[in-house]
This record gives sequence, C-alpha cells and structure tokens, in this order.
Amino acid sequence: MAFTYRKQHLFAEDVDCEALAQQYGTPCYVYSRKAMESALEEYHKALKGCEHLVCYAVKANSNIAVLDILARCGAGFDIVSVGELERVIAAGGDPGKVVFSGVVKRPDEMRRALQVGIRCFNVESEAELEVLQAVAAQLQVQAPVSVRVNPDVDAGTHPYISTGLRENKFGVATDAAMALLRRAKTLSNIDVTGLDCHIGSQLIDMSPLLDALQQLLLMVDTLEAEGIHIRHLDLGGGIGVRYRDEQPPAVADYIAAVREALGDRDLALVFEPGRSIVANAGVLLTRVHYLKETDAHSFALVDAAMNDFIRPALYQAWVDIQPTGPSDAEPRLWNVVGPVCETGDFLGKDRELAIAPDTLLAIHGAGAYGFVMSSNYNTRPRAAEVMIDGDSAHLIRERETIEDLLRGEHRLPQ
Ligand SMILES: *Cc1c(COP(=O)(O)O)cnc(C)c1O
Repeated sequence: MAFTYRKQHLFAEDVDCEALAQQYGTPCYVYSRKAMESALEEYHKALKGCEHLVCYAVKANSNIAVLDILARCGAGFDIVSVGELERVIAAGGDPGKVVFSGVVKRPDEMRRALQVGIRCFNVESEAELEVLQAVAAQLQVQAPVSVRVNPDVDAGTHPYISTGLRENKFGVATDAAMALLRRAKTLSNIDVTGLDCHIGSQLIDMSPLLDALQQLLLMVDTLEAEGIHIRHLDLGGGIGVRYRDEQPPAVADYIAAVREALGDRDLALVFEPGRSIVANAGVLLTRVHYLKETDAHSFALVDAAMNDFIRPALYQAWVDIQPTGPSDAEPRLWNVVGPVCETGDFLGKDRELAIAPDTLLAIHGAGAYGFVMSSNYNTRPRAAEVMIDGDSAHLIRERETIEDLLRGEHRLPQ
C-alpha cells in the first residue's frame, strides 16, 4: 500500500505527509510512483503470452511525470486531443503506441497524429471517417483505423460516465458500425485494423463489459467471413476502483474472462485503463482552517474546494477523508467544505472525524480525475502536484501563481 500510517502519521511511500504539506503548501496532490507502476503491472501480467498494448487513458491524470513513469514501464496511451498527444511526446512516450479516441477530432489534430505515426484512430462516426480519409490522402499516408462500437449496454454506473448506451454521443451502433467498416475498406487511405468500445467508467460489474465483448466478437467473425480481417480489439477502460466499499473485478479476473471469450481467434488486445491505474495512487492534502457550528451542521472549512477536486460536487462521488495525524479532539460528524461560493462546494458530508483547526486532511482516491478536472473558479490558483518515489519527493507541477492566472488577459484601451 502506498499510503499507510506509521506511528499514527500518514506516509506516502516513505515520506511523511505533514512534511510534504509544510514544504509544498496546501492544497497539494501527492502521488505514489510505486502504486502507479504496480497497477499497470497487473494488466501486463494478466496479458502475458498474448499480443497486447495497455494504453493508459491520459485524461485521468495527464501530468508528464505520470506519463513518463508509465511509458518507461511499456505503456501506450489513449488520447482524446492533440494536447494530450503533445503531452505524451513531451513525456518521452512512443507515438506509435498511441490510440486516439473522442467524438470530435479536428483535421489539424488528425494531421499531427498522422505525422507522428500513431497506432490507431478510434473513429466514432461516418463523417469523421470521411474527413480522416481526406486528411490522410493529402499527406499521402494510410490512417490506421478502428471503429468505436456503441453496444447499447448499461454499464450500471453514474449517468455522466456511462458511454455505451444508444442514447449516448459515443461510438456507432452495431449495424451502422458494420456498414461503416465496409465503407472504410473501400477508402484508399484508410487501413481498417480494429474494433473498439468503451462503455463507461467506474464499472463494478464486469458483465456489461463481457456483453459488449460478445458483440464485438460476433462482428469480427462476420467481417472475417466477408474478407475483412480485424487485427485488434480495443476494449477501452472503465474498470472501477474501491473508494469506499465497492467490489470491482480484479484486473486479472477480468482479463482472464476476456482471453477465454476470444477462444482461438488471432486478435491482439488493447485496453485503455485510466482510473484503475492512478485513482488510488494519489491523495489530495488539505488543511482545516476554521470550524463552524450552525443549527443544522458542523462545518470543517478547508483550503481545497470544488475547483481543486470536483468529483464530489459533480458526481456526488464519495471519497475517504482522514486526518493525517492524531488529535486530542473528540470524533464527531463534520461536513468538509471548501472556500468556493457555492453550496455544491463540498468534499464530504457527515464524516466522523477527530479534527481541530490546522488539522491536515488527506482526501484519498484523488489520483484520477482530480487535478485534471481542476479549474481557476473563484480565481484560485491550481494546486501543486508532487510525486513520491521511495523516500524522495519530486515537485512535478508548481502551484500556480495569481500572475499565471492573469496572463493573457487584457483591459480595453483607455
Ligand atoms: C475516459 C476513457 C477511458 C478511461 O476510462 P477509465 O474509467 O478511467 O478507465 C478509456 N477510453 C476512453 C475512450 C475514455 O473516454
């Protein structure tokens, strides 16, 4: 475990969190290199002996130090913008191991991706396929393509992160995808290489994932009979993590089930995990400033807010919040809230905590969809990010300054 108590003080690997808060200030994201590496290793281990690529979903945590660490362990990357592609390149990642997802890929983004030679475009509509054909023809290259199938399965997760239902904007329904693949086969600058799907995030039940896989396999077999050979299946990301008491499938069990379903088909496997690689490899440290009692609630007013970590406000996500050290205070129920001027600005409600002013809190499970979703709302500079590697701490993103925030803004002429 990356975050453990030693003599009642929370450590990130071998570093005391209180010392980190004093050195880097709060709020501050703290990540464990070891936790990220071992989460990726679980995928690689389960895929041993099978041609595969684990494309870490950059959007979950896109700091270039995170990408660098994962690239050194053999990861590829799933990107959803040219900005993420530039991050992968800046981090020393191999563009040849990049898959490009997303419903709106602009021609300039396609051009750059073709120039650096990405592994695959996960095409999400017929209109996109035609534009990609035109861009690839201009550059006189072949665009490797997989079609993202929308299998119309209910992933059983929060509606905002369900992506595999017919009513969602993602992918192409099975029948339409077959037609699109046949069309793609006739285009001179398109090379059909795979099928993909990604049905949602924080999935706790693996049956919708396996249902979707069955649909893809049926398509693979039908296409094969028509002479269209599919070389890889990309099953997306989505495996859930434990924030509280969820029981997500073990990566090894999920991948074993996938491999069994493949039978003797000659298919390489691609996965796009994000959350399951980084979520529990990070905490957000925040300091209690004031305690405030009202008739209705007891509020612990802390220096992190919804602009730093929006998951509780946006998805009503529950994340564990714990003091990083011992306290003489009596444990009682607190609503942990930040400085932003919105009632939706909470990190946790009704948490039994022993705290006093100045207590340092750790918000667990903050490594995925944490810093990347932060904003400058209320003109709040974004937090620092620190990577722990054994007993060393590396500042991997400086805390923003107010000057950073004002850069690029202009008053009107006098
Ligand atoms: C967000 C996303 C992922 C990663 O999902 P996780 O739940 O973080 O594993 C993978 N693929 C695509 C296309 C995505 O949009």
